[in-house]
Amino acid sequence: MEDCVFCKIVAGQIPAKKVYEDSTVLAFLDINPRNPGHTLVVPKKHYETLMQMPEKEAGELFERVKKLAQAALKAVSADGVSISQSNGRAAGQIIPHVHFHVIPRFLNEGPVGLENILPGKKMPEEVLNDTVNKIKQNIGAPQTEPAPREEKQEEIKEIEIEEETVNDKRLDEDMKKLDEANDIDFDF
Ligand SMILES: [Zn+2]
Repeated sequence: MEDCVFCKIVAGQIPAKKVYEDSTVLAFLDINPRNPGHTLVVPKKHYETLMQMPEKEAGELFERVKKLAQAALKAVSADGVSISQSNGRAAGQIIPHVHFHVIPRFLNEGPVGLENILPGKKMPEEVLNDTVNKIKQNIGAPQTEPAPREEKQEEIKEIEIEEETVNDKRLDEDMKKLDEANDIDFDF
């Protein structure tokens, strides 16, 4: 898709520290890493949200996410790994092309799950039961999209600028380690 940063990376029009590639999936280091080995895993074909993806393609993508999680964990000798994926503006999705974040985690940074960015909310039993029923009713229901996002050209510009200032040396080291881990672990 034109003007999509990740489509441009897939097409080789924007450079990226690629760690894995096959016919349908590309993985590369995040240009704004939250931790060493922070990797993005994207489908090569443009889909804005996970819900738009055919089940089979979503399944294949997640299979690669799991492989990359194993490789990144080993590559940077992490203690754990967080995987996150956001859909829609309300969820904080900035680049409108499906992507999973694979983020190695370390005990010394304070063991905090990514879901803790939203405070826990007390919900009455009847609300929980109602939610269970509604989710059950909607499994297999026609697809509903998240609220449309506004065009956010400024944010995309900001990301391109960050790319130029990124610490290339450390990324190179991380990529080398991921490459080594790939050699050991990848079997497809
Ligand atoms: Zn795209």
